Amino acid sequence: SVEGVKFVYDFTEGNKDLKDLLGGKGANLAEMTNLGLPVPPGFTITTEACKVYLDSGEEPAALRDEVSAHLDALEARMGKKLGQADDPLLVSVRSGAKFSMPGMMDTVLNIGLSDKSVQGLAKQAGDDRFAWDSYRRLIQMFGKTVLGVDGELFEDALDAAKTAKKVTVDTELEAADLKKLVTKFKKIVKTEAGRDFPQDPREQMDLAIHAVFDSWNTDRAKLYRRQERIPHDLGTAVNVCSMVFGNLGPDSGTGVAFTRDPASGHQGVYGDYLQNAQGEDVVAGIRNTVPLADLEQIDKKSYDQLMQIMQTLENHYKDLCDIEFTIERGVLWMLQTRVGKRTAGAAFRIATQLVDQGLIDEAEALTRVNGAQLAQLMFPRFDEDAKVAQVGRGIAASPGAAVGKAVFDSYTAVKWSRSGEKVILIRRETNPDDLDGMIAAEGILTSRGGKTSHAAVVARGMGKTCVCGAEELEVDTKRRRMTVPGGHVVEEGDVVSIDGSSGKVYLGEVPVVPSPVVEYFEGRMHPGADDADELVEAVHRMMAFADRKRRLRVRANADNAEDALRARRFGAQGIGLCRTEHMFLGDRRELVERLILADTDTEREESLKQLLPLQKQDFVQLFESMDGLPVTVRLLDPPLHEFLPDITELSVRVALAESRQEPHENELRLLQAVHRLHEQNPMLGLRGVRLGLVIPGLFTMQVRAIAEAAAERKAAKGDPRAEIMIPLVGTVQELEIVREEADAVIAEVEAASGAQLKLSIGTMIELPRAALTAGQIAEAAEFFSFGTNDLTQTVWGFSRDDVEASFFTAYLEKGIFGVSPFETIDKDGVGSLVKLAAKAGRETRPDLKLGVCGEHGGDPESVHFFHEVGLDYVSCSPFRIPVARLEAGRAAV
Ligand code: ADP
Ligand code: MG
Ligand code: MG
Repeated sequence: SVEGVKFVYDFTEGNKDLKDLLGGKGANLAEMTNLGLPVPPGFTITTEACKVYLDSGEEPAALRDEVSAHLDALEARMGKKLGQADDPLLVSVRSGAKFSMPGMMDTVLNIGLSDKSVQGLAKQAGDDRFAWDSYRRLIQMFGKTVLGVDGELFEDALDAAKTAKKVTVDTELEAADLKKLVTKFKKIVKTEAGRDFPQDPREQMDLAIHAVFDSWNTDRAKLYRRQERIPHDLGTAVNVCSMVFGNLGPDSGTGVAFTRDPASGHQGVYGDYLQNAQGEDVVAGIRNTVPLADLEQIDKKSYDQLMQIMQTLENHYKDLCDIEFTIERGVLWMLQTRVGKRTAGAAFRIATQLVDQGLIDEAEALTRVNGAQLAQLMFPRFDEDAKVAQVGRGIAASPGAAVGKAVFDSYTAVKWSRSGEKVILIRRETNPDDLDGMIAAEGILTSRGGKTSHAAVVARGMGKTCVCGAEELEVDTKRRRMTVPGGHVVEEGDVVSIDGSSGKVYLGEVPVVPSPVVEYFEGRMHPGADDADELVEAVHRMMAFADRKRRLRVRANADNAEDALRARRFGAQGIGLCRTEHMFLGDRRELVERLILADTDTEREESLKQLLPLQKQDFVQLFESMDGLPVTVRLLDPPLHEFLPDITELSVRVALAESRQEPHENELRLLQAVHRLHEQNPMLGLRGVRLGLVIPGLFTMQVRAIAEAAAERKAAKGDPRAEIMIPLVGTVQELEIVREEADAVIAEVEAASGAQLKLSIGTMIELPRAALTAGQIAEAAEFFSFGTNDLTQTVWGFSRDDVEASFFTAYLEKGIFGVSPFETIDKDGVGSLVKLAAKAGRETRPDLKLGVCGEHGGDPESVHFFHEVGLDYVSCSPFRIPVARLEAGRAAV
């Protein structure tokens, strides 16, 4: 029941924290009103009223009376009635949802004007031109946004009037011209909407209110919400605000302002002003605005007052604000404010500037930036000084700066990239058949589709630059060409550049420069040094804030000394995942092949003996690069066939040799083995701990290599801290067997070297059964590392390689996922297993160390989750370490 619910709030009754109810615009209008700033009086109809209206198709019963009561109060206060013939009160009806949403309904200004009251307005203002200008604006806006008339019809009529009069700007039209235009506009309404423009002011207002409600569900609004992940059930508020007039002559005007530069963060006078105009003229770009600074010359009093108000707002909101204002005959009015959007770089600068000004503390500063912004600052970027023609702009779907030759199909992309060419794959939209081409390309450009299109989802998953939905580009895949605005044709092979952070598309090669933020993390640029710019300084300080605040430690996924050293520079506190399989490729593959194919113990032992020193050397280097910090080494995990030759290739080789009657015993034996080891579902087959249990000596060789490497580092006065990790364990029995063998080897090495190695042994938790029996597994494990990639695959029954490109787009579009569960941890499913296992594990072993080493370790939202469930560390790829550090700090605020 909605009885007793309040649906309308006067601007004096709300405040900035009521965005859910009053929308952003309404909440902030109320806040400014209560700060004593000059806001034209008005009231806000709540989102609750909108929800009732949208659900039932009707206004809540009480709304009409409540609106009437607030309108009465407004009229009493203003000393005139809405649309009153001799002296009309006029209002604007403005939409305003919790999140600002371009693509929603526009505002209707000047409500209350009619054939009668336009005369009254003219008399009161002593200005005929102004009154008729206001009236034609009302019919135009009302016709377009409330009655659904094509806006161009009005634009055309306005242009025709200007042409007839041989003038170029609308201010040159006189009262008589505008009066004729009103007649014309009313005719357009009558023909197009099939009804007269309503003369009753209350009917105008009510229709406009309903139109704002309805605008919540337009296709454009729905699409925008889906892309921005804004829930569909919030509804919009409606603001009814008494009009002030910027179109009352040269001492009037309207403008927008920022309390600081949204690009650099610098404080100063940023904004635009337009004399003798109403609000929408600024945005519509009808006439040229002047820089806000010029207002000082035009109207010093208003200018000074505005500067004062901007200071008040900054001190109050403690953040960058953007503002809409209007000056009516030398009197300043505030029409809107909100905490302003800003670039990623400005977010970092502004946060530290506000700390320096004493407006916010370090913890608050951390809430003003996020990991996605930091990630954006770390991508290489196009050189801003380069003079290359921009030819289009789409949706910034996956960040990065990519340059390459235009290709229009996957086949060519693969072919050209194999011959060493860099290519940009251009399609109207992509589908699973384009996958090879997408992998081969430097970047992907599409002319259709939004942030959840196939191209966008897959590109983000691959970390590949992507611009999608660049609609003004006409892609003709058949003729392998694309036409850009202006008619220029881009042929296959022409060089294009795409910027996945801004969505911009360029013709020709834009030079790419490394990000100064990465240069800083790499130690090639130092904050405080001459060449360090403000951005680097700000990032440096924000990272320090985060490091002081965070409880989670951050480790790296790294398999070699080079990655480990980079990870350390980026702030890694150890290695959380060293994948040993990467050490078995290249020249060593043959040794592994022999190991797998060994018929006798001697043969097997021989290959193990050869592998041992190679493995040991890898570990020595790795421990050295991470001296003093933990290094978790995972024993061999992947299915064996990954180390064997391709089955088809091998069959061909055997067949050829047979037909040529050449000796091919070895090949035949290999082929038989490959057949024997072939699996339908290798990811669920013989891999992980199962390998260790089936191939005698494999895991013990690896353990020996780790132990001997640690002993060697000790002897060299190093401080190795190795942790041995067993993959794909499903039951504690598996772990116990491996552990027993490993302990024996370690004891042997310790005895031989005389060193205390303090190696710990733990397991991955990446199977549902492991999570469900974590209490038992913890008996044999000193640490758990959640392998959330495999855990996501096994919990959902998804094969990552197969599903991401096939049906994930459909799932995202249907709203089954907000985001791929491989990108952000599925808290309800996979996450609850993590929680459960962490709890059970710690009950068995209170000092059990808990970490996570899946891709999720570097994902902002997931990092917050891991913080909340009490893990000790996250581990991620070296490049994501700064993001993880920052988010771990933010999670602790
Ligand atoms: P948007 O969200 O699209 O900015 P607004 O509701 O803020 O829509 O209004 C559009 C324009 O009309 C803005 O420039 C605003 O300042 C102006 N405007 C809105 N209400 C009034 C009013 N009561 N008096 C004068 N100008 C107004
Ligand atoms: Mg606005
Ligand atoms: Mg795994």
